[in-house]
Amino acid sequence: MNSRGILATLSAGTRAERIAILRTTDSDAVESIRCAAEEVLFANCGKNVFFRGLIEFSNRCRQDCNYCGIRRSNKNVHRYEISSDSILEAARDCARLGYGSLVLQSGERQGEPFLSYVVDTVRRIKEETRSPQLPDGLGITLCVGEQNPDTYQRFWEAGAHRYLLRIETSNPLLFSKIHPPDQTLQTRIACLNSLREIGFQVGTGVMIGLPGQTVEDLADDIEFFHEYDIDMIGMGPYIPHEGTPLGRESCPDGETRLRLSLLTIAVARLALNDVNIAATTALQTLHPFGREKGLQFGANIMMPQLTPLEFRRDYLLYPGKPCLEESASQCYSCLETRIRAIQRTIGYHQWGDSKHAQQRLEKSSFERNGNVPS
Ligand code: SAH
Repeated sequence: MNSRGILATLSAGTRAERIAILRTTDSDAVESIRCAAEEVLFANCGKNVFFRGLIEFSNRCRQDCNYCGIRRSNKNVHRYEISSDSILEAARDCARLGYGSLVLQSGERQGEPFLSYVVDTVRRIKEETRSPQLPDGLGITLCVGEQNPDTYQRFWEAGAHRYLLRIETSNPLLFSKIHPPDQTLQTRIACLNSLREIGFQVGTGVMIGLPGQTVEDLADDIEFFHEYDIDMIGMGPYIPHEGTPLGRESCPDGETRLRLSLLTIAVARLALNDVNIAATTALQTLHPFGREKGLQFGANIMMPQLTPLEFRRDYLLYPGKPCLEESASQCYSCLETRIRAIQRTIGYHQWGDSKHAQQRLEKSSFERNGNVPS
């Protein structure tokens, strides 16, 4: 579609409009979409970019996802688990750098030793990162996969208040193609529902440019986020990993996956207004300024690396991951420069919860407490 045609579709309110945007290749039209998404972002969420320091604390995983470099059956991975003390050290760096929140991510495990290690570590981080600027300590997002409701409840009671679990795709057939038979989209949805019921702010997302994925699928993914009232979205291009079964199948070229990823971010912003959207690291694998582009197409979250350097190379979900060598403070100054360069500001020393979650929570407390003006 050309830039004039696209103007008619910019509300991204219907499936057909979303598909039309996702099909766009004309560069003027892409720029019009970008401007519209940026406008909606600024009107709903302002110009702040919020940081979540990312600690990839273990690559041991019980799952065997067909796309993922740390899948259980990849025997060429050196498996690690970072001690609670080292995670604490990285969390203190996170607070000192002013990031306000952190994401604790790992492969998926369910045994009690693992679960109590996560619970204790979350509790320690909450206690030990309190400061006048952050009286409740760092905001903690967990990303440790599919767990049962009791486990999610324990994570919540330990002090985590956000959880990320990507559905990877809302198309059940595509989901079953990229996962082994013991994983289902239904289970992921049940997990998202249980997280929401417990009180978590819930994040999900998809990979973009998967073999066999269509723009219709991506438009349906956006509808899924809407239907499930999702607070936070993390989406990025699919990057084939040659040590995986899916990595041997063909997918769209890098340029196409980058454009599609940016357009999907824009559609999510246009359609959902006030959610948090991450400019994911995978964007930077496809383009040196991929993450900045993500911000310019409507994202407002970045996840600087805080994983201790010695472990970073072993958390290779996909090849070509950037920032493998930079220390936490180098990442900090690099990101600050990059964000200033695109005329955005940084929300230091704040949790940076999504406006969507804040409004949802206010509404539910209003409904619980009745019509009492505060
Ligand atoms: N065990 C955690 C963390 C998984 S890794 C969980 O289940 O949530 C986090 C995300 O990395 C995945 O959800 C997936 O969307 C993404 N990922 C994995 N392999 C990838 C690849 N080859 N290309 C792009 N993203 C990938």
